[in-house]
Amino acid sequence: MINNYKKIVIKIGSSSIIDDQTGRIRTAWLNSICKNISLLIKENKKIVIVSSGAIALGRKHIGNNKNIRKLEDKQAAAAIGQIELAYYWQQSLKKYKIKCAQLLLTLDDSEIRRRYLNARKTIYSLQKNKIIPVINENDTVATEEIRYGDNDRLAARVAQMIDADLLIMLSDVDGLYTKRPQKNNKVKKISNVKKINPSIEKMASSKSSKFGSGGMATKIWAAKICMNSGCSTIIANGKKNNPLQNIDSSNSTLFQASTSPGNSRKKWILNHLHPSGIIVVDNGAEKAILQNKSLLPSGVTDIKGNFARGDILSIVNEKNSKIGIGVIAYDFSEAKKIIGKKSKEIKIILGYEGRDEIIHKDDLVKINS
Ligand code: GLU
Repeated sequence: MINNYKKIVIKIGSSSIIDDQTGRIRTAWLNSICKNISLLIKENKKIVIVSSGAIALGRKHIGNNKNIRKLEDKQAAAAIGQIELAYYWQQSLKKYKIKCAQLLLTLDDSEIRRRYLNARKTIYSLQKNKIIPVINENDTVATEEIRYGDNDRLAARVAQMIDADLLIMLSDVDGLYTKRPQKNNKVKKISNVKKINPSIEKMASSKSSKFGSGGMATKIWAAKICMNSGCSTIIANGKKNNPLQNIDSSNSTLFQASTSPGNSRKKWILNHLHPSGIIVVDNGAEKAILQNKSLLPSGVTDIKGNFARGDILSIVNEKNSKIGIGVIAYDFSEAKKIIGKKSKEIKIILGYEGRDEIIHKDDLVKINS
């Protein structure tokens, strides 16, 4: 089921990675998933791990660990558990010669575009260097109002952020059932979903497992935002060892996206109704854009508007005809300084290493007028 996908975010729930009796890491399981991941990497797939388990690992060190409810206790448990969790991932991946890095994100890192671009750039840079990002929410500073709440949401946002084509959510259920399996014997498991409509949403119960906080409802929510971004989603039972190798239609539900992530990103750009400014390009840059190339500062003759990095701008040629639309890589004040200049001069002018492209080709949509 995973074969056709290239950029995969794997979300691991606390119930998969932590033994709910002992509160300890399931070492054999962890080693087996790392082995599965090593095989995917050999097939040139890009992998990002979103791992829960910090609070579940740390809670045994906090007072009455059975029932930690207070926010500060959860934050303290996460602070203890996260360092252990990262260590276990590092050690297990190392057995398969895989290097990893830790990213702790807060909600703003995906919701505020500037921070979103920063987080994305970091992940891309790690991937370029063949290092697997292991991501969790920064639970030690996240308060109820400003948190994802569960890693299903976080994983979906990460998948969107990096244009992943598949999100796998490993949990302790075999996917989506028509009704809650425990309550109803006449339940049927759904293997394939092409569209999340209200009847699919109704099937999801909000009950969660002992350690994790997300239930089926948040998984469906996550699948929905992924599908809108062209990313398919698998919800699978990951309890047994070799959880990725074992995914098949009997223990999972596949939510199949109908577009590709690249297309949906361009659609998102194109659908932007109110560009924040205008960028005027010379003939050479116009030709480059027509050939699907990036826009460099040297090809820009003027900019108008009040925009920040990550905003959407209209691109016009010297005759003032709109030829494209794209996401700008610089704030107005920075862009003003570098237009007409060579990319290698950016560092000297701005005092830091910026992007060579003022609008990267992945962030640019041509308009045929
Ligand atoms: N970030 C939490 C942890 O690592 C898990 C959140 C969730 O259960 O989805 O403990």
